[in-house]
Amino acid sequence: MSYATKLLTTSEADIEYAAGLIADGEVVGMPTETVYGLAADAENISAVEKIFQAKGRPQDNPLIVHIAEAGDIGRYARDVPEIAYKLAEKFCPGPLTMVLPKRDRIPDITSAGLDTVGIRIPYHNAARKLIRLSGKAIAAPSANLSGSPSPTTAAHVINDMNGRIPAVIDGGNCPVGVESTVISFENEAIRILRPGFISWEELSEFGEVVKDKHITESAGEGEAVRSPGMKYKHYSPKARVTIVCGSEQQFVDFVNNLNDENVYAMPFEISEKMRVPCIPYGKTAEEQAARLFAVLREFDEKSAERVYAMCPSQSGVGLAVYNRLLRAAGFEIINL
Ligand code: AMP
Ligand code: MG
Repeated sequence: MSYATKLLTTSEADIEYAAGLIADGEVVGMPTETVYGLAADAENISAVEKIFQAKGRPQDNPLIVHIAEAGDIGRYARDVPEIAYKLAEKFCPGPLTMVLPKRDRIPDITSAGLDTVGIRIPYHNAARKLIRLSGKAIAAPSANLSGSPSPTTAAHVINDMNGRIPAVIDGGNCPVGVESTVISFENEAIRILRPGFISWEELSEFGEVVKDKHITESAGEGEAVRSPGMKYKHYSPKARVTIVCGSEQQFVDFVNNLNDENVYAMPFEISEKMRVPCIPYGKTAEEQAARLFAVLREFDEKSAERVYAMCPSQSGVGLAVYNRLLRAAGFEIINL
């Protein structure tokens, strides 16, 4: 089915219109504090099928379910450990997804056949209003075509989804810029399945926190992973991306000595000494997170073929930036 995709505002009337579409089993582009999502009623099988179709997402990759209040967690999940409520008190609403045993009302298509469900309470006003006005729990993966960089503006969503969905709510730039931190619970320990804005350091104040090895290592062919999303190629622009690790001076020397055609550098900031075109992605980890996906999309607009990105730090939200960049680069790294 082809739609004339409408661009909506965050006005009460427009969000009400979008909520009506969700209640009718349609899919809407929704701004959140992390990235834009493709929102549909999490309990409506045919609506959730439309999400998978619009994105071209593999059927075995589960969707996160977005709700308005921590008090609603028990409606969708069971056997919720005490620590999950403690974390919800501190970080929700916010960019944290907790994987919990699911209740039967969450259909298999939403959880991709798993007996768990990822639950998140977004902070973004428009997302919260959309959930409340639709009266539904909202399943929402990132609103990009599967494999391409996640969208952090409504224009990115239109670029990927024009004609594929009836409407997008334009909520401006997503302030966080990378997807939520996904965690699961093992006895009393917390396991990070995907790093995000809520960092290992912050979670560690609540007990032992394990970083899953597939955050920074690629999963081998047929290797078991704890989160299906770990298996897939992600966030890739058309250009081949390589991460370059070393000092700023070493990075500048390295790119200045390249002979490749149509090459771009992705440094933290612009250096006058750099002789190749560049798009900087930010000095702090927070800036890098907020700009990363938009910068990767800009390389496509410039038809870049080769991109060399300066390696980010791995502390705080830097771990999330590194995790996304590693996948965009297909785990290709050069150590200087
Ligand atoms: P996206 O919606 O595109 O941001 O991706 C959601 C991520 O959360 C994917 O990597 C999923 O594999 C992961 N995820 C969602 N639900 C679960 C679950 N029940 N168990 C493990 N990982 C999950
Ligand atoms: Mg995604």
